[in-house]
Amino acid sequence: MTEAVVVTVLGPIAPALLGATDAHDHLFLRSPALPGQDFDDAGRAIEEVGDAVRGGLHAIVEVTPIGLGRRPDRMRSVSEATGVHVVAATGYHRDAHYPQNHWVREAPVDLLAKRIVTDLKEGMHPEDWLTEAPLDPARAGVIKAGASYQHISPLEERRLVAAAIGHRETGAPILVHTEIGTCAHQIVDLLTREGVRPNRIILAHLDRNPDLELHAEVAARGVMLEYDTPGRIKYRPDSQLLDLIDGMVNAGQGDRMLLGLDLGQRDYFRAYGGGPGLTYLMDTFVPRLRTRIGDEAVQGILVANAARAFAMPT
Ligand SMILES: [Zn+2]
Repeated sequence: MTEAVVVTVLGPIAPALLGATDAHDHLFLRSPALPGQDFDDAGRAIEEVGDAVRGGLHAIVEVTPIGLGRRPDRMRSVSEATGVHVVAATGYHRDAHYPQNHWVREAPVDLLAKRIVTDLKEGMHPEDWLTEAPLDPARAGVIKAGASYQHISPLEERRLVAAAIGHRETGAPILVHTEIGTCAHQIVDLLTREGVRPNRIILAHLDRNPDLELHAEVAARGVMLEYDTPGRIKYRPDSQLLDLIDGMVNAGQGDRMLLGLDLGQRDYFRAYGGGPGLTYLMDTFVPRLRTRIGDEAVQGILVANAARAFAMPT
């Protein structure tokens, strides 16, 4: 058995070196589902990330998938300029992010899987596989997938199957976008049917549906749950999210949780004149969480859980 590593855009590192991790964020993104909210300026990303690093952030899992404007070369620049570890994504989002006739909608499952495996093993395609451009030296370290609100569409199922193939060939974890926290059990059922062990599945955005009993039940299957909307006051106050995390820790599921900010729109960044900004996790939310659940439990979530969740075989 080979040693486990976390694959960052600057190369593989020992999982123990990852440190405090924002397990779901975006540095560069554009989507037809989010008109006017695209962001891909390297200078502003460096400014935003630099401030977060000064607040104690060590690593960012950048989960912009294929077709949404991934920028592997700029992710390398951000990592080099700030010292933050960046884990980049391959894989695909839910249907809403792909216009009609996009190749991602039309590709058969074997091509979808082949491009995932290439991104993970050889290097990421710099232009979302739209051109013949040579691969970037940065490899992806996580596979993204996505489902719709209350259902998994046939095309989303195809992409989840492709994600499972990519996982079986590389051991990379699969991080799945849930729409408002729905379909958690169905996603786990589908992926485990395709040969993915539950502890290699990360479900994102479950905090959009802050249902403690449901979360404890899903986590008990062995899945990692990701809470990634601290500071998104339009959804609910942070106090409710603190209650939820406290409840999960008390339910014995503290080792099944990850935290992130999921800044997926230009308006969420300080560097673009908005907020809460990338400093929010370490500077604002984590101090409140430490008061609530204690230093040890917080370190477990930010550091140990992330190191375990994003490790893969060399
Ligand atoms: Zn996201």
